[in-house]
Amino acid sequence: MNIKHLNLDSSLKILVTGGAGFIGSNLCEALLENGNSVKCLDNFATGKRTNIEPLLKSPNFQLLEGDIRNLEDCERACERVDFVLHQAALGSVPRSINDPITSNAVNVSGFLNMLVAARNAKAKRFIYAASSSTYGDSKSMPKVEEVIGKPLSPYAITKYVNELYANVFAKTYDIETIGLRYFNVFGRKQDPNGAYAAVIPKFVMQLMKHESPVINGDGSFSRDFTYIDNVIQMNVLAMTATQPEALNTVYNVAYGERTELNELVQLLKESLYNYDAQIAEIETVYGPQRAGDVPHSLASIDKAKELLGYNPQYNIRKGLQEAVAWYWENLK
Ligand code: NAD
Repeated sequence: MNIKHLNLDSSLKILVTGGAGFIGSNLCEALLENGNSVKCLDNFATGKRTNIEPLLKSPNFQLLEGDIRNLEDCERACERVDFVLHQAALGSVPRSINDPITSNAVNVSGFLNMLVAARNAKAKRFIYAASSSTYGDSKSMPKVEEVIGKPLSPYAITKYVNELYANVFAKTYDIETIGLRYFNVFGRKQDPNGAYAAVIPKFVMQLMKHESPVINGDGSFSRDFTYIDNVIQMNVLAMTATQPEALNTVYNVAYGERTELNELVQLLKESLYNYDAQIAEIETVYGPQRAGDVPHSLASIDKAKELLGYNPQYNIRKGLQEAVAWYWENLK
């Protein structure tokens, strides 16, 4: 994605943790294209070398293989950086239910290590991947940043704790923080494989192989699916923000519309029909509901619009067209 129009100073040095992952590698790519120096810290727990292979050729790109559970790795990564875009974490609600200890070690202790390292290195701003899971059992819709419920999974707890730590660090030490509560992000380079794959890449791969997509529940659950380029825009806006009221707070990162899972499958079939007409005939299979899943998720994006000038360019249809084109070209 070209971010030139967002006027990010190209002399800034930026650390992207989790830079070999889905969101992180897309951020690295956009920043390098803007002319920034980019460091990537990753232990390849879920990230992929292929995501960053083309970037390794750039003299402005530095890969540090390391683990955020190790403070020394975090300190090495934070040396001489202006901004930290902290994406490294173990995602997935089911993963955290199966192994809460590892999710907590990475997402909470690792997060704290990164905050300490960024503070010690005098990084100007720490922008981090928060999560819509923090809304937990709150029934209010759309979700506004100030009204959250009780967490429904260990993963949600870890992401909420991140916000609490960031808030305290902003108040206690001389470091600015911004949390970005991502809502179901999708797009190029998102991993379709493995037990914890996200729903869009998983369904795309299943449909491309003429397999039935399996929906947990009756398909009426809905999500505010958010295309990766909207997420990149928000990360850049979080770096360029200068008004004090825009800092040391959290923002929803979404499109602001919700799509039911049954409708999602329909949209995917429509996008894939252009490549393979037989996909239209594939039937959906329904399985049991998953523990920890929130029924509906829809963001208010008013705060991001007002304080950061957020203007998402991709609705779900436009995003799915691009994502499907990428999967067809790269993974078919
Ligand atoms: P991802 O799994 O593709 O990326 C995470 C990256 O972090 C991977 O490259 C992984 O190898 C790295 N990592 C994991 N443990 C690490 C460790 N101990 N040390 C160093 N690196 C480590 O996932 P993603 O979808 O790109 O998610 C990025 C961030 O956004 C995560 O913090 C996630 O919780 C958050 N988030 C994502 C979504 C979404 O829909 N994708 C929604 C809400 C929040």
